[in-house]
Amino acid sequence: MKVYYDRDADLSLIRAKKVAILGFGSQGHAHARNLHDSGVEVVVGLRPDSSSIAKAETAGLSHASPEEAVASAEVVMMLVPDEHHADLYRRIEPHIPHGAALACAHGFNIHFDLIKPRSDFDVIMIAPKGPGHLVRSTYMQSQGVPTLIAVAQDASGMAQALALSYASAIGGGRAAIIETTFREETETDLFGEQAVLCGGATALIKAGFDTLVDAGYSPEMAYFECLHEMKLIVDLLYEGGVANMHYSISNTAEYGSVTRGDRVINAQVRKEMRRILEDIRNGSFAREYVAEGRSGMKTLLAEREAWKRHPLERVGEKLRSMMHWIASKPLVDRNKN
Ligand code: NDP
Ligand code: MG
Repeated sequence: MKVYYDRDADLSLIRAKKVAILGFGSQGHAHARNLHDSGVEVVVGLRPDSSSIAKAETAGLSHASPEEAVASAEVVMMLVPDEHHADLYRRIEPHIPHGAALACAHGFNIHFDLIKPRSDFDVIMIAPKGPGHLVRSTYMQSQGVPTLIAVAQDASGMAQALALSYASAIGGGRAAIIETTFREETETDLFGEQAVLCGGATALIKAGFDTLVDAGYSPEMAYFECLHEMKLIVDLLYEGGVANMHYSISNTAEYGSVTRGDRVINAQVRKEMRRILEDIRNGSFAREYVAEGRSGMKTLLAEREAWKRHPLERVGEKLRSMMHWIASKPLVDRNKN
């Protein structure tokens, strides 16, 4: 595995280019603002009726329609939701100058051939391994989020150096810039978010919460035990792995953990994880997601509503409003990013 830091990157490469950032959401606002603060000329591409225009203006960034933004750009970074990339790309491609670099923060559309870029482009990935809000907040603390880079097409012969330069300008080189491939990033990223980080973790929290509440314990206690304390444990894991977490918790907790954990995440769960990985690798998840996009995100919107109604979210809202320190420095501010 190749790892790079700021000292390995030539910042002047990205500073010499005009960058169009398409979208100003979670990743978009972070890339645009970090690049701008690193001395890169940025234009944000948004549709004329976009609710993000006001946010880009508040951040002091210039904006234009996606077609106009790419017309004068030498690097085009696609940071709209993945299900919109293919349509957006079809619209902007005729406007992108010859020899530009097409960039993304997740290999989904390139790896699954939903976009077939013109042969004069460099095609690169700069993928921070963290939510956009953290990409911005760490940058402002003179830190960064570990960032993956990859090259799918190298028309200029400079694609890798450009990706490295961009990654450094958004703060990645203060943590680590790791070189990978579009395939590896796409498949491991989808697996991580589905099985472990987002899908797995929330399902585990929900199942634990439901088990306690169904057994007659108060939802407030269940919330603290199954969701709130998750962060404290994850912080210990993040800092020093499992041994660090075990060192900090009581022997009772450690004994319960080592004798019960594998009963929860048992052979059946591991088998299901392998099936989830196979669906990613053989492209069936990608086909399912493209169909979901065409349906107007029916399943996703219904599940979002279902989560809102779940007692875990209800009681959480109430409890967090009493824990003022949590809201004092939010990572997500829906009015600004
Ligand atoms: P968001 O959902 O936050 O993007 C929303 C932004 O895209 C808004 O500014 C929205 O503006 C704009 N937008 C949506 N549809 C269109 C369209 N059809 N044309 C023009 N603008 C549009 O996206 P994310 O930041 O979550 O994801 C962006 C990319 O980054 C994806 O490829 C994702 O996989 C990747 N990624 C995301 C991470 C994250 O932290 N979320 C982590 C790592 C990678 P409007 O007001 O017009 O809707
Ligand atoms: Mg991910």
